[in-house]
Amino acid sequence: METITPAGSQRCACCDFQPARTRVAGTSLCLTCAPAYALDQDGLDHLAHLIWMPRFDQGVLSRMVRAIHAANLLAESVTDTAIHDQAQRGKHILDALIRTRGQARECLGIDSLTQLRKTVSSMAVREFVGRSSMTGLRVLLYRPAWFAPDVDLYRQDLLTALDTP
Ligand SMILES: [Zn+2]
Repeated sequence: METITPAGSQRCACCDFQPARTRVAGTSLCLTCAPAYALDQDGLDHLAHLIWMPRFDQGVLSRMVRAIHAANLLAESVTDTAIHDQAQRGKHILDALIRTRGQARECLGIDSLTQLRKTVSSMAVREFVGRSSMTGLRVLLYRPAWFAPDVDLYRQDLLTALDTP
């Protein structure tokens, strides 16, 4: 994974909404979507969960998750009751998304992205045929953080987007 510094005007190839800040295998992605494409990245399980969410594609999920993380971050620095209410609702939505890990576990027998990478890398191509029932699997960036050593990159990117020091 390669970090794009500074962020340019190119949009993420997955959500088509947020600025691209990383490249994974040559594809430009935002920080919320990138973990879904970087299963080989060390520390992935400390930031992201495998969940079951067939109603949203990965890009829609990322837009929602980024808004939740942004509301929580904004609530840390303001006293506005409306912002705190939004942040609280966002936490409830994030908790509900995290609970869908159980459905991912039922579907695959695993809910860890590291385990998924190991399992998929050992499967033959013919084993993927007929697996369309797994199209509800998504990667949820449940923590507003980034991979070591740039653990604060996600938070700084959000603060820049919020125009907050
Ligand atoms: Zn994105």
